Amino acid sequence: MPRPQTTPSSPAAAGLPVSRRALLGLAGVTGTVLALGIDAPGATAAPVGDLPDGLFALGVASGAPRHDGLVLWTRLAPDPMAEDGHGGMARGAVGVKWEVATDESFDTVVADGEALATAELAHTVHPRVKGLDPSTAYFYRFTVGDQTSPVGRFTTLPAPGEIPESFSFATASCQAWYHGHFTAHKHLAQEEDLDLVVFLGDYIYEYGITEANLWRQGVEVAEPHTVTIETLEQYRLRYGLFKSDPHLQAVHRRAPAIAVWDDHEVENNYGGKVSTTGISDELFVHRMAVAYRAFYEHMPLEVSAIPDGPESHINAGVDVGGLARFSLLDCRQFRDPAPTSDEDQQSEDRTILGAEQEAWVTERLEESDALWNILGNGVVFTAVTDDRTEMWDGYPANRRRVLASMGRSRNAVMLSGDIHRHVASELKADFDDPDGPNVGVELVCSSIASNGDTEKEDGLQDDWLAHDYVKMYDGRRGYVHVTLTPDAMTSTFWTVPWIEADDTAPKELGARFVTDVDTATLRPL
Ligand code: FE
Ligand code: CA
Repeated sequence: MPRPQTTPSSPAAAGLPVSRRALLGLAGVTGTVLALGIDAPGATAAPVGDLPDGLFALGVASGAPRHDGLVLWTRLAPDPMAEDGHGGMARGAVGVKWEVATDESFDTVVADGEALATAELAHTVHPRVKGLDPSTAYFYRFTVGDQTSPVGRFTTLPAPGEIPESFSFATASCQAWYHGHFTAHKHLAQEEDLDLVVFLGDYIYEYGITEANLWRQGVEVAEPHTVTIETLEQYRLRYGLFKSDPHLQAVHRRAPAIAVWDDHEVENNYGGKVSTTGISDELFVHRMAVAYRAFYEHMPLEVSAIPDGPESHINAGVDVGGLARFSLLDCRQFRDPAPTSDEDQQSEDRTILGAEQEAWVTERLEESDALWNILGNGVVFTAVTDDRTEMWDGYPANRRRVLASMGRSRNAVMLSGDIHRHVASELKADFDDPDGPNVGVELVCSSIASNGDTEKEDGLQDDWLAHDYVKMYDGRRGYVHVTLTPDAMTSTFWTVPWIEADDTAPKELGARFVTDVDTATLRPL
C-alpha cells in the first residue's frame, strides 16, 4: 500500500497545535487525511521511551468494513482507571504504527502506516486501511516503541455484486458491566463463523455504580465511578471501565464491529435534544456533544462520525457484496420527544428517524439489489403496546413509512435490542391488520449483562406473546448469531444461565429460526 506524502509545511508534521477544522480543511486540500489519529506519516510525536508499560490495556478493534479495507482502532491507556479520565497518558501526541498482514506472525505485511494519538481524542486512533483484497482474511496490530498490541483479525467484505456462499454476524446490546460478567461475549468471541458484530446500543451506561447496582461479583470500583456521568472525562473513564473487560476485548479482536447508540451512551430515555433528568435544553446539547465525542473516540468508526457540536452522524451503510445490505439507524438524536397526548403520538408528522435519515434509509431499501436488507437500531420495531412510547410504538406513522419501504425491498430484517430480552417476531405490512401479509422479520437481542440473572419467563412474556406475530420471548442474557445464505437466514438466540457470580456459565440454546428467502416468516428449527 503506498504511503501518502505529508507536506513538510503541514502544521501536524511540524508538531504545531492546529484546530480540527484546520486539519480537516487541510485534508481536503491535499487529499490526505493527516492527523486526529487517522493517519499521520512522519508526524512528530513524544519520545516513546518515556511512555509507561501496558499502553494497549484496552485492546484493539476494527470496524466500518468494506471490500477493500476497514477502520482500525486502539486507545493508548496504560491506566484505564486513572481517575482524571486520561487513561494514564500525559498530554501530547504519540505516533502509533499499524500493520495488516495475511498471517498471524506478520511475516507478510500488506499494509502499514502511522496514526497520531492525541490527547484531544483520548489518545485513540482510527486509521482507515485501503487497498486490500476482497473476501480475504487478515491480521492487524499496533506498535509504539517496543510495545505491541494484541493481534486482531478480520475478513474483508466480498467485492461489490459478488454473492458469497454465506455471511455470519452477531448482535449484542445493553452491556451494564456492573450487573454481571460478559459471559455472553466470551461465547460470542468463540463463534466459528463470525464476519461482523453489530452493537445495537447501551454499550455503556451513565449511571453511578454503587453497592445497590454492583451485582458483578469479584470486583470493586473506585469512588469516581459512583456518580452519574456528566463530563467528557467521566464518559472516557466509563468506556475505560467497560472496555477493560477481557471478553469484550476478545469480541473486538475476533471480527469487525459496526455500532449505533441507544439512550445510555448519553442519558436514560433522552429524545432528540431533550433531557429526561431535568437538564435544560441549552445545557443538554453540551452533554450530547461530549457523550457523542466519547462514543466516537472508543468505537472503530469512520472519521465522518466525529461529532460536530451536539450532532454526530453514525447512521452507516455496509454492503456485503450482493448478498446483504446493512443500514444502521440512529433512533435517538433526531427523534421527537415523548408524545404529550394520544393525538400527538398518532400524528403523521411524528418522527423517530428525522427527515434526512428517513430519506437515506428509504433510498437504501427501495433501490437495493441485495438479497437481504437488514436494518439495525436501538429500540424494538414490532408493535407491542401503545404504552411503550420509548420504542417504535411511540412513532406509529414513522413505522408505517418504514414498513412500506421494507415491503418494496427483498427480505427485510430489523435488528434491535434495548429491552433486555430475546424476542423474535414477524413484521406485518400493517400491524392493525395482523392477518395481513408480512414484510420482514425482527430479531431482538437480549442484553449482554443488563438485568443480571433472570429466567426465561420473567413475568412479562404474556404481554409480548399475546401477539401471534411474536414467535419467541426469552428473558435470559445472551446474544444472537445469524447466518445468511442466498437461500435462507438462520438466526440463533444464545443464552447464558447466570452472569453475576462469575463468567463460567455455558451457553445454552434459547431458540433457532430459519427464514427461507422471500417468505418473511420465522420457521422454528
Ligand atoms: Fe439497556
Ligand atoms: Ca436502551
